[in-house]
Amino acid sequence: GDADAFEIEAPGGLRLADVGGMQEVKDRLEAAFLAPMRNPELRKLFGKSLRGGLLLYGPPGCGKTFIARAIAGELGASFMSVSLSDVLDMYIGQSEKNVHEVFRSARRKAPCVVFLDELDALGAKRSRSHHSGLRNAVNQLLVELDGVEGDNEGVFVLAATNVPWDVDIALRRPGRLDRTLLVLPPDEPAREAILRYHLKDRPIESIDLGKLVKVTDGFSGADLAHLCDSASESALMDSARTGTVRMINTKDLLAAAKQLRPSTEAW
Ligand code: ATP
Repeated sequence: GDADAFEIEAPGGLRLADVGGMQEVKDRLEAAFLAPMRNPELRKLFGKSLRGGLLLYGPPGCGKTFIARAIAGELGASFMSVSLSDVLDMYIGQSEKNVHEVFRSARRKAPCVVFLDELDALGAKRSRSHHSGLRNAVNQLLVELDGVEGDNEGVFVLAATNVPWDVDIALRRPGRLDRTLLVLPPDEPAREAILRYHLKDRPIESIDLGKLVKVTDGFSGADLAHLCDSASESALMDSARTGTVRMINTKDLLAAAKQLRPSTEAW
């Protein structure tokens, strides 16, 4: 893990409205996170502090990163995505330094959303195994989350995990990652948006997205990406064989869907 490698994206134009479907997620985000940010007078009146972050959890590949980016867009904030597994370093003291560096960079770029992916990499279960420096990394993260008075102004911490039960309980205390948001596999409108996204730069016939959306219940965003890849591959193979471009059609996509098992069944 090299802390200098943590890139910060300038404020982007992505908005919650760009997130297809997932109305409950968007409503809760608006109510629990964005509305208080936007209304300092109300915050003051109701004694709500700005401290504390949000833990997004749910099966992998279901748009947590995408949603986090949209939140940054809503806040007009820069976006820094950090995978905890990249922060951890086997050299003594280096993990803590990396954690500190992440927050130092974010504070310099405030307003900034820090998106901590794979938060469970810091989990208690793993600390008992090989990573002896893990406890120190967790402690450093606690220090950064608590901050010194005013330190974290304009630093919004979002974290994500597929295994919320592995997340260190100390990280969940009030003022830390004290709010949670379940991000389930994409619903129909979300699946349609994801399919559109993955097909937009490919040669396609007019596609029956409605039908496709119906047969992909339980598919994650990653599954849908995979589905588009394999459909694309069949059309490519046909094209290569015959020497004329055969565009991707609904049949390719339906056939690919049949071959795949949704990866989120357990949720
Ligand atoms: P995770 O962080 O949960 O692993 P992700 O953020 O990498 O997931 P995917 O779910 O794999 O995202 O989606 C891949 C791409 O599909 C996103 O980058 C985005 O462009 C698009 N996408 C995903 N979900 C939606 C959605 N609800 N509406 C519109 N586009 C979406």
